[in-house]
Amino acid sequence: MTTAQNSYINDTQICSILEKYAKPDPAQVRDVLAKAREMKGLSLDDVAILNGINDQQQLEELFATANHIKDTIYGKRLVMFAPLYITNLCANECTYCAFRAKNTAIVRRALNQEEIKHETQALIKQGHKRVLLVAGESYPKQGFQYVLDSVRSVYEARYNDADIRRVNVNVAPLSVDEFKLLKAEKIGTYQIFQETYHRGQYKKVHIGGKKMDYDFRVSALHRAMEAGIDDVGIGVLFGLYDYRYDLLAMMQHIGELERAFGVGPHTISVPRMEPATGSDMSMQPPYPVSDDDFRRIVAILRCAVPYTGIIMSTRESAEMRRDTFALGVSQISAGSRTNPGGYEEEDDISGQFSLGDHRPMDEVIRDVAQMGYVPSFCTGCYRLGRTGQDFMDLAKPGAIKAHCGPNALSTFMEYLQNYASPETRKIGLELIDKTIAEMEGLPKSRAEKLVGRVKNGESDVYC
Ligand code: SAM
Ligand code: SF4
Repeated sequence: MTTAQNSYINDTQICSILEKYAKPDPAQVRDVLAKAREMKGLSLDDVAILNGINDQQQLEELFATANHIKDTIYGKRLVMFAPLYITNLCANECTYCAFRAKNTAIVRRALNQEEIKHETQALIKQGHKRVLLVAGESYPKQGFQYVLDSVRSVYEARYNDADIRRVNVNVAPLSVDEFKLLKAEKIGTYQIFQETYHRGQYKKVHIGGKKMDYDFRVSALHRAMEAGIDDVGIGVLFGLYDYRYDLLAMMQHIGELERAFGVGPHTISVPRMEPATGSDMSMQPPYPVSDDDFRRIVAILRCAVPYTGIIMSTRESAEMRRDTFALGVSQISAGSRTNPGGYEEEDDISGQFSLGDHRPMDEVIRDVAQMGYVPSFCTGCYRLGRTGQDFMDLAKPGAIKAHCGPNALSTFMEYLQNYASPETRKIGLELIDKTIAEMEGLPKSRAEKLVGRVKNGESDVYC
């Protein structure tokens, strides 16, 4: 099948599975949860069965299972990143987004390369090592080269000798040749969200510009992988359509990537629709997802694709973010701004949507550490070439723990020494000691060695 005439999503199959398991038998739910604990992933039918749970006790069992998987595979690590919005120019009309072309309620701006370096320095100053570069779908006169130059500028920026070590990218779908150029800039993950996989609803909310082409978008990750980008990120904008449908469709999409390339996505993002300045749906998403259902979504995903990272942004409140760490979230953003130039300047009304968590990075880190989670700034896998299939081969038997645990601690120590407030440093140092004390074998000896090297003044140490 070529990427141009794909049919990755089988609508008939989704609808019939959803109908079949609308009210699953409790025994079926128990069987699926037992299967989930084997951490080998779930089928479409299994996911539909978990979707259908309508009993509080079974919901609690789903949460407990997700928590068990999260703890076994990821331990207490939480990878930290910050989005960097380089432009809010956009030629598309996505009814839910403040950047849509006809919205006159925001100030338009595309940062130049100097400004991008300044924004990056502001993030480095906060202690960030990973950036997610984000753009609307319209670039200044350089065209797509603008995105390539911007990635380079982020890598080039320095503050007190420190730099950004991994740039992930969330921009509109590209051709295979353009993806090759993006890969040559040494990006980490390329991510793109289908928004909704339901064709009818997709058509209703994408009413102008190139993004109206559902097929070009749904095939983007195949083209990215064809171009050699082996870490790709997938996602749905929850609230646009029935989440039960979109979860199953996303599983089909993942299955297609696995079939074609032997490996699925590196990350799944779970954005939930937020009010956006001047958007058509500024008050109410068409299919609102309640907080309870949102927790369920995260827990189902953790059970269904145990080795794929789940990303939670600052769209969500501090409380919801805390809840979902236990259910499967493995990466979070902190101190985010969604308006170009927002890190250097006062916030204005040009952001993409309202944020739920406004706390500065240091406060988020302190909160996370107080809960016993170790904030990780590690970029080791990608820099040592452990991406795509290699990453999954290492992750699946659990061997990744011997790398990720120690690397999380050494990069957290680097953060505490160079960027943290005294209060955060105190809490963080106690957490590092406690975590190492609870480790055993190779991970423990590696952690002691790496953290010791950071204490002695080295930086950027990882295994
Ligand atoms: N313009 C590119 C695109 O649409 O793919 C990439 C960047 S776009 C700024 C990133 C994502 O923001 C979109 O894929 C969409 O899911 C999300 N988004 C847009 N409006 C939103 C809203 N009101 N609330 C939450 N997320 C939103
Ligand atoms: Fe533009 Fe992306 Fe917003 Fe759509 S979601 S209006 S493509 S920035």
